[in-house]
Amino acid sequence: PPLRSSNLLTGLDPEQRAAAGSPPGPLLIIAGPGTGKTRTLTHRIAHLVTEGALAAEQCLAITFTRRSAEELRERLTDLVGARARSMTVTTFHGLGALILREQYERVGLSARFQVADDARRLEVATEVTGSPASARRLLEARDEATARGATAAADEGEAGAYERRLREQDLVDFTDLLALPVRLLEADNGLVERYRRRWRWIGVDEYQDVDAAQYRLLRLLTAPDGDITAIGDPDQAIYGFRGADVGFFLRFTEDFPAARTVRLSRNYRSNATIVDAAVQAIAPASLVPGRELRAVGDFSDPPRIGIHVAADERAEASFVARAIDRLLGGTSLHSLDSGRVGEDGEEGLSFGDFCVLYRTDAQSEALAAAFDNAGVPFQKRSHDRLTARPAVRMVAGELARVAGAGVEERVRNAVAALCDRHHGDTGLTTSVRTAGELLAPLARRCGDDLEGFLAELSLGAEVDALDPRADRVSLLTLHAAKGLEYPVVFLVGCEEGLLPLRFPGAERDDDAEERRLFFVGLTRARRRLYLSRARRRTRRGSRVENAASSFLEAIPSRLTMPVDEETATRRRPKDRQLRLL
Ligand code: ATP
Ligand code: MG
Repeated sequence: PPLRSSNLLTGLDPEQRAAAGSPPGPLLIIAGPGTGKTRTLTHRIAHLVTEGALAAEQCLAITFTRRSAEELRERLTDLVGARARSMTVTTFHGLGALILREQYERVGLSARFQVADDARRLEVATEVTGSPASARRLLEARDEATARGATAAADEGEAGAYERRLREQDLVDFTDLLALPVRLLEADNGLVERYRRRWRWIGVDEYQDVDAAQYRLLRLLTAPDGDITAIGDPDQAIYGFRGADVGFFLRFTEDFPAARTVRLSRNYRSNATIVDAAVQAIAPASLVPGRELRAVGDFSDPPRIGIHVAADERAEASFVARAIDRLLGGTSLHSLDSGRVGEDGEEGLSFGDFCVLYRTDAQSEALAAAFDNAGVPFQKRSHDRLTARPAVRMVAGELARVAGAGVEERVRNAVAALCDRHHGDTGLTTSVRTAGELLAPLARRCGDDLEGFLAELSLGAEVDALDPRADRVSLLTLHAAKGLEYPVVFLVGCEEGLLPLRFPGAERDDDAEERRLFFVGLTRARRRLYLSRARRRTRRGSRVENAASSFLEAIPSRLTMPVDEETATRRRPKDRQLRLL
């Protein structure tokens, strides 16, 4: 029987309401960027719980990052109050860790097992293989095999020796967080039944980017007629390079023949120019034939997309810094929609409204330098794991030794202690300070729960430490920008070889996935979008000449307008030229 509509369905359009209020049972929500998928997921959970169809503790919601899990829980708290606390809202790796915290004995761990960071596991693997190079090969092969669904224990050879050594030291690695729960559940039907009774409803956001191990875990936790809501957009599948497979999304209705499919077509995020450009840009590689996506905002004459061509990466970075400075000078959020400037009583733009996106982390160097130079505050985040940075590991290692009530204070003290000890080594102290800044937002969230903080740290990606309240420009890799949105977006490095990225000597370049990344980048922008490129840039130490990205060709010229340094820097607020910005 269909559920009664509740006031939790207000604030949704009819399509979203149909999805959120749909009766229990498998559900696939397939929709483009900015259509309110994540919002609909939130309301579906709240709806099921308040209608009494589900107890809060029976909900398992899986998101792509720890940060989006945190956000989802906050939204749920707004909607259903304290009940949100008893829901399980986490990432796939967080889910694996949770299951292992309950089943540790069965895999030869103690209750206090730890997640080995990449440096630690490289040490262990090097002990086994004899050299760091072969250790890296071993670990890569192991990660890849798990992502492709080979979760069986390695009893023999180096892989087996590596696993035994990890366990002896009471450690699991990131890959184990998925492989071990799958192994456990596959060997024990009773356990499967217990977890299925516990989580009667499972929702997965960004389902287009699950890998085979995550998929198997999900299938184990969901009964064949189980209640699962999968949400995603195949055209935003961007983690294939890490083993994710959009095929799992595409076969959802075969896996769950009773599944209802709901499509959302209204884009609430971006103006019509941006939506139009994005739809054209993805068309040559779209996995969603006949995709419908239209802007619903009330922007009558949205500004065109700014295209900037710089001489080199330094000039490109300084263009971005100047354009931000220019836009901050008296521009209000509202006037971004029309090109008008500085009307009285309107709230102005601030640094936090800007985001700069790039394909490779290395591109952030020129940007950071230009921003430092121009006095533009920023927070830089990649999709890499937090513990990939040696300085983060140093700070983490120091936390137990410093006095300090809350975790945030401890982080501060640890940074101070390390800088004291290594004073003179400016390279190192700078990295340590940066690590401290990176960890601060996470530390703040953890209060005085040091163990919780360390667990969060071991599972988190840099982007999880993005501080949404900080008044800083966000510098993000395209992969880290999944699910996010900003009023003003600069997508830099739109060059052949960089976006699409081509690795020298790579066996296979997946241009379709590169195009999807471009699509994800374009669709982060709400009101203003700038695409820039440099004619020359230094890559891996050598100067290269780059042609414009072929992806730009798909964007009709009626939607774009060239912008240059001149238009970006002239301080004449009433000048019509500002429309170019
Ligand atoms: P992505 O594919 O990038 O993850 P999404 O489909 O998950 O996007 P959301 O992030 O949920 O989209 O929503 C995009 C924006 O549109 C958000 O700012 C959200 O608050 C807003 N929005 C969604 N639905 C509505 C609605 N019915 N009315 C007003 N605003 C909405
Ligand atoms: Mg989303």
